[in-house]
Amino acid sequence: MTRYPNLFQPLELGHVTLKNRVLMGSMHTGLEETKDWNRVAEFYAERARGGVGLMVTGGMAPNREGGVFPGAAGLYTPEDIANHRLVTDRVHQAGGRIAMQILHAGRYAYGPDCVAPSPIKSPISPFPPKELDEAGIEKQIADFATAASRAKEAGYDGVEVMGSEGYFLNQFIVTHTNKRTDRWGGAYENRIRLPIEVVKRVRAAVGPDFIVIYRLSMIDLVPEGSTHDEVVHLAQEIETAGADILNTGIGWHEARIPTIATSVPRAAFAWVTQKLMGKVGIPLITSNRINTPEVAEQILAEGCADMVSMARPFLADARFMAKAEAGQGGLIAPCIACNQACLDHTFSGKISTCLVNPRACHETELVIEKAGAAKTVAVVGAGPAGLAAALTAAERGHEVTLFDRAEEIGGQLNLAKRIPGKEEFIGFVDWYERMVAAAGITLRLGRAARVDDLRGFDEVIVATGVAPRDPRIAGQEGPNVLSYIDVLRGGAEVGRRVAIVGAGGIGFDVAEFLVEAVPSPTLDLEEWKVQWGVADPAVQRGGLAPGGPQPEPPQREVILLQRKSERPGKRLGKTTGWIHRATLRMKGVKMKAGVTYERITPDGLWIRTGEAGETPVLLEVDTVVLCAGQVPERSLADALAAQGIAAHVIGGADVAAELDAKRAIDQGTRLAARL
Ligand code: NAP
Ligand code: SF4
Repeated sequence: MTRYPNLFQPLELGHVTLKNRVLMGSMHTGLEETKDWNRVAEFYAERARGGVGLMVTGGMAPNREGGVFPGAAGLYTPEDIANHRLVTDRVHQAGGRIAMQILHAGRYAYGPDCVAPSPIKSPISPFPPKELDEAGIEKQIADFATAASRAKEAGYDGVEVMGSEGYFLNQFIVTHTNKRTDRWGGAYENRIRLPIEVVKRVRAAVGPDFIVIYRLSMIDLVPEGSTHDEVVHLAQEIETAGADILNTGIGWHEARIPTIATSVPRAAFAWVTQKLMGKVGIPLITSNRINTPEVAEQILAEGCADMVSMARPFLADARFMAKAEAGQGGLIAPCIACNQACLDHTFSGKISTCLVNPRACHETELVIEKAGAAKTVAVVGAGPAGLAAALTAAERGHEVTLFDRAEEIGGQLNLAKRIPGKEEFIGFVDWYERMVAAAGITLRLGRAARVDDLRGFDEVIVATGVAPRDPRIAGQEGPNVLSYIDVLRGGAEVGRRVAIVGAGGIGFDVAEFLVEAVPSPTLDLEEWKVQWGVADPAVQRGGLAPGGPQPEPPQREVILLQRKSERPGKRLGKTTGWIHRATLRMKGVKMKAGVTYERITPDGLWIRTGEAGETPVLLEVDTVVLCAGQVPERSLADALAAQGIAAHVIGGADVAAELDAKRAIDQGTRLAARL
């Protein structure tokens, strides 16, 4: 008997039955653009083998002008069809089903040929779109239909028409972007004419025995967005036009409310889909921040949706469904919603992967096979680098001993999990604990490993991490100065007025820790909605609360400082940095760049913001917290080298600069894959 009876319930669509209620949502991985179609096929086949009911590809443009960027993958030529056929064949051989998403970016397209209902530039692209005329609109509709019939020819089980997230079809629906006065603009009936027409023509092109999913924006989170009544009306029209399933879209890309980041509560938008339940006759899929089988099961059990979409969780673990079905839910590698290796890569023009699982999108290149001969492997340091190396080595059949001077595994992840909004790191460390136990790794905790402990192992891996950088500020030994470790471990007295030295990832984290109350809004959906200004679209158009964000008052007065003159937080995650900056702004945190630290006295921190020789000013604070970066902790590596014992040095112990868990895990996994 499965623990997830709703999740493993088949879904009947008339002409086809899906084996369970989970859809792998569309993700733009960048794999198609590599033109290595074997690699694309293997990415999807691995997830098909993992048992997901239906997958949707990354967005494929119906034409050149609709591509997300010039040269974005599409399905235009007979050669393209043959390439896509490789993917669909491989997925079908693996027992899976796959639909192709047709994505027309409209004014979000990052190219000079972009088109839209009205010539209004989007805030996220520098290119103003051309306004389409009647013939231009007809061409777009025809191109959607052609793309759908090509998808059928290429062997896909269906298509998903992308109508949400502020892309082309969504741009026609709301007056925010549609200022037309012809039959495609003005009244709501006119503005929804295009998506309805597209679905009708797509259905006509593919015939009845082909899945047509429509992704509908159920809460736009932008000014002049749709009301709930309008969403219901559109959903009913889309059903009549021939869609088999409605998928949920949440928020436009230009919305200033986070929708998928780690600080968004789990299943934060299932209530939005639930509002549409019972108002259409076709199944509804819900999405956003669903990352465990328990959460997915609960959503279905509570009647919020008929099916659940998860995207990034299938990067973290291709075998999500197989493990859930086998009663091994606790061994599913968790997506922590960090975006660091998936969306941040996509938006930097790099191939996506996953912080937790570096094999994602690298299935053909990072192959983890049983080792020819089992070795004894010592790994020192149970942070992300050491854990990844230990688990991969054990998976390959090596006998692994993992040392850490702390009483618990996790290293710096144990600091990250204390940051409000980063609660997903708690589950991440717990997962590592279960994996270490399941892999039969011998743990030696609570004492720093010495050279003598490591003699006799076939391989020694040093993953001893980092130590805080000493910023050498006069007076820093005073009782009013703390390091980020003192603060985040808890127990240290932090005053009401705080200056933070260093505005990197940890400086931002510490600032959030100091201003946010416990428990954080991430653990309280209603409070989170108030904090960010999310309202019910049945009451407020687009789901935007009239008063905007209403955060709780900050716990402390904080000023965040850096020496560089650039904007603080500029180097934070590409898709999440704005959320951290906005959170601190909402909490009244001040930020100052271009400072020179003079000295710390009992009165506070003396800084200069101008030329040398200028009179320093006093920041009157009770506590100064040092977050000035990190340096490699190499004492063990050096001691081993001095004794002539060969060792592999990875993670922060190797290079501390710009270290994050993504690089650490990737390096640890890749090293152990070749031992
Ligand atoms: P970091 O990002 O390198 O930032 C170090 C900060 O300290 C900078 O603001 C730097 O700015 C300042 N600094 C450097 N040397 C200094 C000195 N001698 N005296 C005074 N200030 C100095 O390092 P981190 O904040 O320790 O973070 C470590 C790593 O963890 C980073 O790679 C980061 O990406 C990662 N992390 C990421 C996240 C995330 O949200 N993705 C969160 C936490 C940590 P100036 O030199 O301009 O003063
Ligand atoms: Fe999830 Fe982060 Fe992996 Fe992306 S990189 S799939 S957000 S864990």
